[in-house]
Amino acid sequence: MHEPIAYTYNADTHCPSCAEEAFGRSEDGDIAPDAGVIAPWDECDPATGICCGTCGCEIVESLPYTVIENTPGYLPDDPDPARFHTFREAVRYMVEQVRDYRDSLRDFGGDPEGWLDRTLGQAYMRDAGRNHDLGRSFEVVDTPNL
Ligand SMILES: [Zn+2]
Repeated sequence: MHEPIAYTYNADTHCPSCAEEAFGRSEDGDIAPDAGVIAPWDECDPATGICCGTCGCEIVESLPYTVIENTPGYLPDDPDPARFHTFREAVRYMVEQVRDYRDSLRDFGGDPEGWLDRTLGQAYMRDAGRNHDLGRSFEVVDTPNL
């Protein structure tokens, strides 16, 4: 039996401790038996997460920053891209991905060239040894619902 992660009442979402404070527990040990519940497996928008409407705590962490990788002109390859809490974390991950890509070009005898902008959260890398290499774009976006 999984306890709900959140309760819905008063047109908002609330954490278990605030719900218990507001309603107490029933004889069965249930918090706020008349309130709606959000179970651990219920879907929620990862971009916004869930915050408690009473105390403001983060019930489900919001992960608004997404690292998108694609070949320029093509859709992103990963339908479920990596998501992060902060822009900084997302940029750190993006830099790792760019390095991995550069290293893989080198491993195959390529001549990587490109640029990386930590402030914008954007990067581009291609193999300068190949005339028709479209390369690869990396970008941190905060509009993840593609
Ligand atoms: Zn709360």
